[in-house]
Amino acid sequence: MKVPSDLLSFLEQEDNFIIATHINPDGDALGSALALMFALESKGKKVTVFDRDRVPDFYRFLPGQERIVNILNESEVKSKNIILVDCNSLERTGLDNFTFRKTSVIDHHEIEKNFGEIKWIVPEIAATGILIFQILNQLKVTLTPEIATNLYTAIVIDTGAFRYANTNADVLRISAQLIDAGADPAYISNNLYEMWSNGRFKLLIKVLNTLEIRNEMAFTFVTKQMFEETGTFPDDTENFANFPRMMGNIKVSVLLRQLDDETWKISLRSKGNVNVAKVAALFDGGGHKNAAGCKIKGSIEEVKNKLAETLQIVLNI
Ligand code: 5GP
Ligand code: MN
Repeated sequence: MKVPSDLLSFLEQEDNFIIATHINPDGDALGSALALMFALESKGKKVTVFDRDRVPDFYRFLPGQERIVNILNESEVKSKNIILVDCNSLERTGLDNFTFRKTSVIDHHEIEKNFGEIKWIVPEIAATGILIFQILNQLKVTLTPEIATNLYTAIVIDTGAFRYANTNADVLRISAQLIDAGADPAYISNNLYEMWSNGRFKLLIKVLNTLEIRNEMAFTFVTKQMFEETGTFPDDTENFANFPRMMGNIKVSVLLRQLDDETWKISLRSKGNVNVAKVAALFDGGGHKNAAGCKIKGSIEEVKNKLAETLQIVLNI
């Protein structure tokens, strides 16, 4: 796989970078950003990693995560180069009105926004972590255990632990190289999947109890009150939308997360050829074929009805 030469020379020639990834960061966003940070630092570059939101507890094992900053000073970043990782617009990072020296994007999302002088966006690739792996190869960066752990986590998260349709021989070959370089699969899986807080598990029970099935669609929701009752945070809901997909007759799973009285963050998950990114895009969101998101205003019933109707029309469910 060939990395665009303008991206390689940008990374080689510039000295001062901000790596920014998307709000509500997941393992691909964090792992990709941190691996690129270590790689550029090994080449003597200055690097800051930014995410507007805190690192979720279950990603605190990622090497370098303590270096991530949640605030940037607008006047200080003007002279620095931005690299967006696992997203392709400033709005997705929460840095909407900031300006930078040069702008670049490394991403694999389907819906592409008009941002970035230097871009590498490859929707058919399973994880942004794989693009970072290729960049590191071409820059001849030595894969340290820290880099390998971050990139392996990125791949595990975006392939659903090697279960989704985006898992292929290349994904497994790259993952094997990361294990050779020091990524420990059992340690990483243990941290990701077997270290939940009791509160998070109680939250899952509450959310699963909201299940409503309409045709082949499953709806679940989480309210602010549920977070308060269980002492959890919005990032604790990562992966919750996937549970209803376990049912054989479910084509789409919708999780509604309350942001305020009248606004809901929607997570859409699907199987096979059902493309939920198309539906998210209609509500000004985005994502991938089988995992996408957006925000919708209204009461819970209004939002469910609007989504059910749109899913039925667009996806023929
Ligand atoms: P999640 O449901 O886990 O928040 O997101 C699933 C996928 O959709 C991720 O790849 C995420 O980046 C993308 N996504 C979620 N919400 C939005 C949104 O509001 N806008 C865009 N462009 N992408 C989103
Ligand atoms: Mn990703």
